[in-house]
Amino acid sequence: MKKEIDWANLGFGYVKTDKRFVSNFKDGKWDEGVMTSDDMVSISECAGVLQYAQTCFEGAKAYTQKDGSVVCFRPDLNAKRMEDSAAYLEMPVFPKERFLEALIETVKENIDYVPPYGSGASLYIRPYMFGTNAVIGVKPADEYQFRIFVTPVGPYFKEGAKPIIIRVSDLDRAAPHGTGHIKAGLNYAMSLHAIVDAHSQGFEENMYLDAATRTKVEETGGANFIFVTKDNKIVTPKSSSILPSITRRSIMYVAKEYLGLEVEEREVFFDEVPTFAECGLCGTAAVISPVGIINDHGKEIKFPSGMEEMGPITKKLYDTLVGIQQGTIEAPEGWIYKIK
Ligand SMILES: *Cc1c(COP(=O)(O)O)cnc(C)c1O
Repeated sequence: MKKEIDWANLGFGYVKTDKRFVSNFKDGKWDEGVMTSDDMVSISECAGVLQYAQTCFEGAKAYTQKDGSVVCFRPDLNAKRMEDSAAYLEMPVFPKERFLEALIETVKENIDYVPPYGSGASLYIRPYMFGTNAVIGVKPADEYQFRIFVTPVGPYFKEGAKPIIIRVSDLDRAAPHGTGHIKAGLNYAMSLHAIVDAHSQGFEENMYLDAATRTKVEETGGANFIFVTKDNKIVTPKSSSILPSITRRSIMYVAKEYLGLEVEEREVFFDEVPTFAECGLCGTAAVISPVGIINDHGKEIKFPSGMEEMGPITKKLYDTLVGIQQGTIEAPEGWIYKIK
């Protein structure tokens, strides 16, 4: 029986569900893992995660398609990305195949929390891993916990996808040879000051530039950029300090293979941003969030698509990708994982 939840008015907050998956790494190996109703974590006061932020995470979604199937979008890429994040933080890798199995099982165990088709809501899936044993000298932990919990989240756009205003940040998100390309909690901790400040100034997001030269576009705190040129080419910034968004990679594929558009992943200089026709932010949460204005220290870059609605190409990309996710447009092989 579906839970009694007002799906359409659900926000993006934590709602405790029935079950979560937990596996522990000790003596050099992962245990078989369990599904538990215990939502509390008990670890050493000196745990590696608490002292030196040794933790990484993932974000995916399960949702109901038109025919009633419950599915997940490309979770194999989340599994692979988490392997990369863990390895870079000197954490043991939780194997891809086990990650996928655990993710599917966790959704199944909480199937009554998967919002119905058409509600716009979805079940957010949060896999994460952290160092659990006491670490006081700076070094990787020896013991880790891998968990997956799920939480129902409401529609990202409650009143249609209205373009947002963002600003160019004076602070940096990631260093050239740092951790920008992995999904580490630490990248978010250091972005909190910038985002709170942006919000207090009336901006929804920060556009980060490359830390070394401050001339190239990187991404926002939690979404990659796509731009549309005046002749309908899709451009996305290329940099080794950008988090490889699954949504962005999917959009680039859809643009080329479904819509026949030219696509370019390359360095994007901030100077050329005013020449673009449309701009969007992509990530699992919103799929694409249209940007209407970028504020560069008081100087506004206004995209021709305006502040009323998504630009026409952005809208096509959005509708096609959402159609693929919802099962109304045929998906490329292997993109949709059927859970139930
Ligand atoms: C998670 C994340 C994204 C979006 O990635 P998706 O896989 O599309 O959800 C973009 N940028 C950053 C910094 C992120 O952490």
